Amino acid sequence: MSLNVNEAESDHGLGHATSAPAARMGAKACCICLVAPALAERPPLCRSAACRYRYERLHPSRLCVHCLRPLAAVGSGAVSHCDALACRQAAARQLVAEVGVRRREELNQLRANLGRRRGIATPDHFPVVDLPTRRARLTRLPRRRLALFRAHLEALAPVALALARSGGSEVQAAGTSMASSHRTADDIAASGCANCRGYCCATGARTHAWLRAETLAGFAHKDLTMTAPALVEHYLSFVGERISRNSCVYHGPRGCTLPREMRADICNEYFCPPLIELRAQTTADAPARAFLVTREADGSSRGQFVSLR
Ligand code: SF4
Ligand code: SF4
Ligand SMILES: [Zn+2]
Ligand SMILES: [Zn+2]
Repeated sequence: MSLNVNEAESDHGLGHATSAPAARMGAKACCICLVAPALAERPPLCRSAACRYRYERLHPSRLCVHCLRPLAAVGSGAVSHCDALACRQAAARQLVAEVGVRRREELNQLRANLGRRRGIATPDHFPVVDLPTRRARLTRLPRRRLALFRAHLEALAPVALALARSGGSEVQAAGTSMASSHRTADDIAASGCANCRGYCCATGARTHAWLRAETLAGFAHKDLTMTAPALVEHYLSFVGERISRNSCVYHGPRGCTLPREMRADICNEYFCPPLIELRAQTTADAPARAFLVTREADGSSRGQFVSLR
């Protein structure tokens, strides 16, 4: 659409000043004449009758669906939104929301189909929990990584034992973070982690399984006769033969191989957004139910009904 600015300016002789471009006046410009200040945000039109007339003649498909400015006037090659940052962000958010709605419908269908096959009368009583899924290949732990991990433990162990013996407040209370009053929700979350196979555990690769002296102290606290080498060997004994590629040394084929009471607080306390949502929906005294969904390597979804009392 081509605009004749001079013509548009001449249309503003109806009582308001038009000599200063809108940008200079600190207001958004009319999307038709591009000069006079717009009276409203959507659509951004000035008070000129000519601008309104021109605007109303535009086909709706030629307007940005977010800001309602003419697409051609803002130089967009996109079909439904213009190039303005706010409109591109709004379009991206809309796309994410649409994908989410489609995914939710697909999973509701999967739940209904599977429920029918399993003879579950009320599958919709099982909230869908769409888990992130890690399907990395298993690999032998490289010797160099094992040596680095051993060195990390050897540096921590003497400090941990000193902490444990002093009984300081820094000692991590072993495994207590999972012993919450929300037991059923925690158990069902643990089923989620087993299905997901430790998507979030990739972070453990860079952090030596998040282990700190306080973590080891929490465990050593139970047996104060333990020596530093024994503590190191005990932690090393849970490193599996094969681990998930580029992940934590304890990330085995079915998730974490380290007993919960030996893990770092963050490992026991972290819940990914789908599990946070599930926990929020689950009351401590009601049976916990969920339809846990994971993605297979071929992109298909796999669902599992889980019910705990
Ligand atoms: S918290 Fe559990 S379910 Fe969520 S990403 Fe981590 S391992 Fe997977
Ligand atoms: S210690 Fe276990 S829970 Fe923690 S990051 Fe490693 S595999 Fe995951
Ligand atoms: Zn105008
Ligand atoms: Zn726009």
